[in-house]
This record gives sequence, C-alpha cells and structure tokens, in this order.
Amino acid sequence: MASCESCGKKVENPIKCKIEGVELKVCKECSKFGEIVRNKPKIDNFNSIKFKKRRKKEKIIVANAPELLKAERERRKMRQIDLAKMLQIKESLIHHIETREIALTIQLGEKIDEVLGLELVKELEID
Ligand SMILES: [Zn+2]
Repeated sequence: MASCESCGKKVENPIKCKIEGVELKVCKECSKFGEIVRNKPKIDNFNSIKFKKRRKKEKIIVANAPELLKAERERRKMRQIDLAKMLQIKESLIHHIETREIALTIQLGEKIDEVLGLELVKELEID
C-alpha cells in the first residue's frame, strides 16, 4: 500500500496531483488542495480549431479576357453582332469589352465561356 506523499496517510489508490507546482501521489483528501494530473496528455485542439483557415473560393476574370474573347470570336469567324446575338446582349457591349472600355463581368464572362468554350472566368482559392 502506498502512502500519501502529502500527509503520509496510507492510501490504496493514490491520486496523481499537482500541489504548489509539485507532482505528488496523494490521498483523496489532499488531492483537493491541488490540481489533478491526468494521465492522458491534454490535446490542445484550441488553436487548430479557432484558426483553421476556411478556404474561400473567388471567381476572377482572367487578365487577358478581352484578347481571348476577340481571338476566339475571330477564329470562329463571328462578327461582334453574331456573338452579341448568341449572348443576348448589345453588340456595343462586345465592342467595349474587346477594346477594354468596359470590364467584363463574372456573369457575362461565364456566359461567354459557355458559348465559346473559353476560360475567361477562373475560380481561385484564397486564404
Ligand atoms: Zn493525504
């Protein structure tokens, strides 16, 4: 039978306990004065949960979208008006996009990608 390292009392199942910074095997009574030491190391998940980065996806228009659009349109021998009709938008909008007067929107970019099989819109993973 072990004895309590704090009070010296005989104890069957001493409790590992930290009393004033010292780890002792003590009786139940003495354990009340300290902090019980658990055998299993405490897994500190706190940081990983709190700071777990949620990867956000963001759609962007590729930098050379106007050039890609124009090149593909011309490759298909389509006029701006032909493409405009397919996209159900104004011809002038195609013109403005190709000449970079108007920035291509994600919405229209995706529509063009669908019609022309291009990749003017890309999905990026950002932190
Ligand atoms: Zn004791």
